[in-house]
Amino acid sequence: MLGACRGLDPTIFYPDRDDDADVAKQVCAECSVQQTCLDYALAQREKAGVWGGATERDRRRILRQRRRSA
Ligand code: SF4
Repeated sequence: MLGACRGLDPTIFYPDRDDDADVAKQVCAECSVQQTCLDYALAQREKAGVWGGATERDRRRILRQRRRSA
């Protein structure tokens, strides 16, 4: 998978607080594999980091919404 994050400092994608995830989210917004990346993280229940433009908190919210509409 050739993500836009390739070669960047990985610490950007593991911010201490969700509120500090803006830089990572901007990179993901330009990424050609954003949806694939997010789907992977959701399927794997990834606990840490920004994946597909979503923080762990964002992913929990997405999973909650999916459960509700299922
Ligand atoms: S969407 Fe995934 S692959 Fe793309 S920049 Fe973000 S973390 Fe990297």
